Amino acid sequence: MMEITGTGIGQGVAVGQVVRMAERLPEPVDRPSHLDPERETERAKASLSVVAAELARRGSQAGGAAKDVLEAQAMMAEDPSLLDEVVTRLQAGKTAERAVFEAFGSYRDLLAGMGGYMGERAADLDDISQRVIAHLLKLPAPGVPDPGHPFILVARDLAPADTATLDLDQVQGLVTIDGGPTSHTAILAREKSIVAIVGATDAASLADGDTIVVDAERGIVLADPSAEEIASAKSRIAERAVRSSAPIVPGALADGTAVPLLANLGSADGAAEALRLGAEGVGLFRTEFLFLDEDTAPSITDQQAQYTRLLTAFAGKKVVVRVLDAGADKPLSFLNDAHEENPALGLRGIRALRHSEAILREQLTALAAADAATDAELWVMAPMIATVEETRYFTGLARELGIRVAGVMVETPSAALVADRVLAACDFASIGTNDLTQYTMAADRLLGTVANLQNPWHPAVLRLIADVGAAGAEVGKPVGICGEAAADPLLAVVLVGLGATSLSMSPSALADVRASLARYSLSDANALARAALAAEGAAEARAAAVAVATEITSTRDTGS
Ligand code: PEP
Ligand code: MG
Repeated sequence: MMEITGTGIGQGVAVGQVVRMAERLPEPVDRPSHLDPERETERAKASLSVVAAELARRGSQAGGAAKDVLEAQAMMAEDPSLLDEVVTRLQAGKTAERAVFEAFGSYRDLLAGMGGYMGERAADLDDISQRVIAHLLKLPAPGVPDPGHPFILVARDLAPADTATLDLDQVQGLVTIDGGPTSHTAILAREKSIVAIVGATDAASLADGDTIVVDAERGIVLADPSAEEIASAKSRIAERAVRSSAPIVPGALADGTAVPLLANLGSADGAAEALRLGAEGVGLFRTEFLFLDEDTAPSITDQQAQYTRLLTAFAGKKVVVRVLDAGADKPLSFLNDAHEENPALGLRGIRALRHSEAILREQLTALAAADAATDAELWVMAPMIATVEETRYFTGLARELGIRVAGVMVETPSAALVADRVLAACDFASIGTNDLTQYTMAADRLLGTVANLQNPWHPAVLRLIADVGAAGAEVGKPVGICGEAAADPLLAVVLVGLGATSLSMSPSALADVRASLARYSLSDANALARAALAAEGAAEARAAAVAVATEITSTRDTGS
């Protein structure tokens, strides 16, 4: 048995046979065309528009977040400046295939060099280029194979067009060699609840027909697993199926302590699915996801329409909306366009909004208007708060503009360390464990090379969370968790033991977390938290929590 590590998306497990995705088309040879440039231009333009139309068609077929991704790709295929780049090369006598390859390649390198969110769009451009070249050469477009039986797809990286249209009856799991946790592959896999591991560099050694176990919860692929390992994976799959068909009840510990389970959403499109999976409200609505492709700030009217749609879907429930969190991996050109050496430490979140206060005022105005027109319970919070003064600034402005409940995200160690004073200046806190881990461990959350440090189980991160939980309990204000940590079923129990009063996550994680919470009482959760806090490092903290959890459940099961 060989273990291949990567980044697991979600908590699922899959067992199946590998089918590899076809490798890329060979690089078109750089030779002079025997056609004249005008004829080559016609060929290139025709193929570009066929590919754009096909991507748009697939987008409307797929719906949801995939639709936006594919429509954005269709627009890239017809981007006038990219076409200019192609035509310049055709005028120089190159073939259409070569000109497309070079022009898309140069834009690709530009994006890849920017890193972060933009860097991960490089795969989108590569995919368009491959499709256009395949069309020019009259070859089938590279895409997902169809072996006629269920399989685990292993690919270098998957294009959004492929992830969006995967046949979920056939694809049991997905392993990509490239790609990070914020690549489109990961975003779409999470949305579609596909068992996936991205960035599994050593998966390049897997061959067609190999039987493998994909364990997304642990972020490992078992190549050549033993019969026992396959049996254990299958029993975990069966247990998970039981959990996901369990009755949907409000989140609670075994002793009845309520722990509301909320959804993280990036658009109102996901509302129906979140409600179907039992979301008791929204714990994080990432408004910046609505406007990532805009060049200008959205109008109050546009924003009000979007927020009204969300709040209407969650009538009678709590909805926590975060004001625009621009910067670092989520650039919004209308908020922060300047180049920064260290964008994660730069003008992002509340800092960028403060710098363009008119945009923040408009967003709060749109939110207050949507709140007045609907029946959900709207809470609004600010991202990347580092000081008490920023907290006061935000809550003051929010209240002035008609927001009734105003809070902050605790994502920086500084905010966590003065949480008592931060909480005194606002109505609630929500801990963003993704950024809190990044800043506590000084490890860029987008960088695969430091992924081992990006672990919210680290006692340093847990201690900060415990401080915020204690401060919340002291002043009687809610402290939610809305980072990915809340989606880890065992860590979720630890977080409650550290004082979290609600947990918000990708809706596909709700069933696992609900089932996990129901197994422990509040004193069990406190015991798990104490064990994790006392550990030396992240792996030890998890192992300590597992040991306490095993002891609790086995004592209970044997009745001793
Ligand atoms: C976080 O940082 O944990 C968080 C929830 O915000 P985002 O992932 O959008 O930065
Ligand atoms: Mg964050």
